[in-house]
Amino acid sequence: MTGSPSRRDVLMTVAGAATALMPMPALAQNAPGRVVVVGGGFAGATCARTLKRLDPRIAVTLVEANQIFTACPFSNEVIAGLRDIKAQQFDYKKIADDKVAVSFEPATAVDPQARTVTLSGGIRLPYDRLVLAPGIDLRWDSLPGYTEAAAERMPHAWKAGEQTLLLRRQLEAMEDGGTVVMSAPANPFRCPPGPYERASLIAYYLKTKKPKSKLIILDAKDAFSKQRLFQNAWKALYPNLEWVSLSSGGKVTSVDVAAMTLVTDFGRHKADVANVIPPQKAARIAEMAGVADRTGWCPIDPATFESKLQPNVHVVGDASIAGAMPKSAFSANAQAKVCAAAVAKLLAGGSPDEPKLINTCYSLVAPDYGISIVGVYRPADGQIKEVEGSTGVSALDAPSSTRALEATFANDWFKTITTEVFG
Ligand SMILES: Cc1cc2nc3c(=O)[nH]c(=O)nc-3n(C[C@H](O)[C@H](O)[C@H](O)COP(=O)(O)OP(=O)(O)OC[C@H]3O[C@@H](n4cnc5c(N)ncnc54)[C@H](O)[C@@H]3O)c2cc1C
Repeated sequence: MTGSPSRRDVLMTVAGAATALMPMPALAQNAPGRVVVVGGGFAGATCARTLKRLDPRIAVTLVEANQIFTACPFSNEVIAGLRDIKAQQFDYKKIADDKVAVSFEPATAVDPQARTVTLSGGIRLPYDRLVLAPGIDLRWDSLPGYTEAAAERMPHAWKAGEQTLLLRRQLEAMEDGGTVVMSAPANPFRCPPGPYERASLIAYYLKTKKPKSKLIILDAKDAFSKQRLFQNAWKALYPNLEWVSLSSGGKVTSVDVAAMTLVTDFGRHKADVANVIPPQKAARIAEMAGVADRTGWCPIDPATFESKLQPNVHVVGDASIAGAMPKSAFSANAQAKVCAAAVAKLLAGGSPDEPKLINTCYSLVAPDYGISIVGVYRPADGQIKEVEGSTGVSALDAPSSTRALEATFANDWFKTITTEVFG
C-alpha cells in the first residue's frame, strides 16, 4: 500500500495545492506554535486533528510513512474471510481538509535540542512541540529463527496490510485436517485480547470450512484479557482449539522456519500454518528520538503525555508506557485527545487539566458473538492508574442475544472511531 509518493503528495495542504518540499507551512502572525505529529494512526491522526480543532492557529504537520492507513481492529475478520481488507483502509484527505499539513514520508531522525524532525527526503521540520505516535515495531532479535524473511512463511499479521492477507491466503490454501499453530507473546504488547480474538475467528473459519483441522495457541503467559469469557466460549464452540499456557510449556523459544516448527522448552509443534506474534517495542523513531527507555517503550507524564526523557516531546498510543491502559486503538484515540488538549494549553501559556481516560476493548469470538472489557483511568502517583471499581467485563452467563448485541456494538465502535479519526 505504501507506494512512493509523488512530489505533490509529499505535503498535502487543505486546498490540495502543492506546497511540496516546503519545510513547514508559514507560521501565521498570531500562531501560538508549531506542532509536528509523527505517525498517522489512531493516536497521531486524532492528535493532529484535535489540535487544529482546539486552536486553529496552531500550525500542525502530520508526518506519516504511508498514504493509506490499514487498521488493525477488525483485521482478524479479514484473516477469517469475513471481511474485505478495503474496509480496513483509510486515507488522509479529510485530515488535510482540516488544515493539517500532511507529509507522506517516514521521519528518520529527531533532534530534541534543535527541535527538528528530519524526513527521509532530507527535509527538516522545526517544532515547538513534537508528538510521536509511531505505534510498534516487532522485536526481530527476540525469538531465534524469527526474522523478517521468516515472517513471509510464518506471518505475524500484527501490523495490518500485506501480512494480514498473507495469513488469510495460507489458511485458504491449507488442506482440511491441517494444524494451525499460533504463538502469543508475554505482556506488554499491542492489543492484549487480540491473539485470542484471532484464535477464535480462525477457529470459526476452520469449524465452518475445514472441520477436521485444529488450532493450537502457544502462550508465553498464564493469564490473558477476558480469559474466562474466551475459554467458556471456546469450550462451547470450538473443541478443536487448544490453548497451551506458559506453565504448560506454551512459551515459544525459537522457530524453525524450514521445518515449519515452533519450538518450546517442552517440545516441537509442526504447523501447516504458523502465526507467530513476536514480542514488540515502540517503533524505531521513538528510540532515535531518545524517548524509549530500556524496556523499549516510552515513559510519559500521565497528564500531558510529555516524555519523561525529552522535554517538548510527547508520546501517545501503543509506543507509550500508559500504565494500566491497554495498548488499543480506543486508548490511543483517548490519549491523543488528552495530549492535544495539554499541548494546546501549554502553547498558549496555560496549565493542562487533570484528565480522565476511558478504554473499551471489544472482541469477536464469532461474527455474532461479542465480548468486551471497559475501564476508566486517571493519573495517580506519576502513572496512569485504573479508577477503582471502574472495570467492567461482559457477564459470564449472558444469553446469546446479548453476545449478538455486543458484536453489533463492536462493529458500531469501529465505524464511529474510524469516522472520527479519518472521516
Ligand atoms: C489483530 C489486531 C486487532 C486489534 N483489535 C483492536 C480492537 O478491536 N480495538 C482496539 O481498540 N484496538 C485493537 N487493536 C490495537 C490497535 O490496532 C492499536 O492499539 C492501535 O493501532 C495503536 O494506535 P497507534 O496510533 O499507537 O499506532 P498505529 O495505529 O500503528 O499507527 C502508527 C502509525 O505511525 C506510522 N509511523 C511509524 N513510524 C513512522 C515514522 N518514522 N515516520 C512516519 N510515520 C511513521 C505508521 O505508518 C502508522 O500509520 C488491534 C491490534 C491488532 C494487531
